[in-house]
Amino acid sequence: MVNIFLWILDNGHGKATPGKRSPVLADGRQLLEYEFNRDIVSRLIVKLNGAGIASHNLVPEIAGDISLTQRVNRANNLASPLTKLFISIHANATGKGGWVKASGTETYCYKLGGKSERLAKYFQQKLVASLGWKDRGVKTADFTVIQKTSMPAILIEHGFYTDPDEVLKLLDPAWREKIAESHFQTIKEIEQAGLTFFK
Ligand SMILES: [Zn+2]
Repeated sequence: MVNIFLWILDNGHGKATPGKRSPVLADGRQLLEYEFNRDIVSRLIVKLNGAGIASHNLVPEIAGDISLTQRVNRANNLASPLTKLFISIHANATGKGGWVKASGTETYCYKLGGKSERLAKYFQQKLVASLGWKDRGVKTADFTVIQKTSMPAILIEHGFYTDPDEVLKLLDPAWREKIAESHFQTIKEIEQAGLTFFK
């Protein structure tokens, strides 16, 4: 495949980021968001490498916490002859530390009407269609990593780990593989469309 884009993959949080974890399940398991985000990014990179599609793991470190500004600077300073696109991988949480019924997936861009919204809609629609996930839609937010990055940038919230049912999916390797496969197919289609994707 001819590479048009460089897919910059951001894995959200570090091991040391406060919070960002589910309540503990009755069987003792707990979802740690940094681990979920990294697992999705790792699975996706394996698939992209296999297809010869260029990607960049923005935060390979596991220890510590690479700040949002550092993530932005890394992405903005990354030199590449390819057109850079920024995808931030997260899972959602709500409430004050306990279980809350709230489910579904949603994708953020900083502003509507541009390349980021186009990307966000495409990833969101494919994810909802391929996993049968509740569609919470494309939304705008001033999250640092999608506001300050100098390339089209989106942030995907893959379900809620504070929901007692949805966390079971997010812990399931088969479900994670489906997420990675959905994003892989999305990326392949965008690569095939090339720059006309944004026209
Ligand atoms: Zn997050």
